[in-house]
Amino acid sequence: MGNLTIGLVRLLHICLLSAVSLSARAELQFHWQDAFSAEEKSGLSAWITETQGALESLVGTLPFNVHIYFHRINGAREPVPWAHTERSATQGVHFHVDPRFPMSDFRRDWTAPHELSHLVLPYLGSKHAWFAEGFASYMQYQVMGAMGVLSAVEVAQSYQRQLQRAEENYGYPDRPFAQAARRLRAEGKYPVMYWGGAAYFLRVSQELDRSDGPRLIATLMQYLSCCRQNDESLDTLLAKLDRLSASDVFVRNLQRFQSVPGFPPFVHLF
Ligand SMILES: [Zn+2]
Repeated sequence: MGNLTIGLVRLLHICLLSAVSLSARAELQFHWQDAFSAEEKSGLSAWITETQGALESLVGTLPFNVHIYFHRINGAREPVPWAHTERSATQGVHFHVDPRFPMSDFRRDWTAPHELSHLVLPYLGSKHAWFAEGFASYMQYQVMGAMGVLSAVEVAQSYQRQLQRAEENYGYPDRPFAQAARRLRAEGKYPVMYWGGAAYFLRVSQELDRSDGPRLIATLMQYLSCCRQNDESLDTLLAKLDRLSASDVFVRNLQRFQSVPGFPPFVHLF
């Protein structure tokens, strides 16, 4: 009888814990690191709220609060000259912005869709930067499509333009992309590393579109609702995504990017 009671108490405890984790929803928390006027604050927070809403309309709710830090830059040439993610116990993004640009310029800028998309996956270490940047670069145009900033045709054209330029600047025809990525980074050829990485996700997306299982975006949604953790390795993550998509496309394409020399082929993806 005593054991049964203990068992029931444990069960109740587990149920309560799951209820807590299931009800966890992402809330945006804004931190104003410099002086901003009330009007600037309202414009900037509306911009991030809209972008986050577009991301979540695709992949669902992030299972943690997202901290947004605004830093002020005066006299910049673009609305968001610099931004980076915060991947500690706190998940968030630092935006360095020039608030004197009109909000329409902020909406057309790819930085917020890119940085917020990074948070969908855990931090995987600098060794796999090409994978993380490839993911955020792939997602940025998906999010801008969801925001209505880009049409479906413009999304496809944007990928094509970026990949063509990256291929022209690759310079390692005899090295697999995943191996060359570290050199590209050291040489400061960031766009080449970013867009070669995005080719991985375009490829995975096309293969999942043609399969009977869930597509890439649906797989990411499942991943966020069941499995998003902070301390995952790339191998663990990909095994999980393969399981969720009932496929082998994630691991198989990684092996391809690690073994087939040259810039990843992409013409057939469009
Ligand atoms: Zn990035």
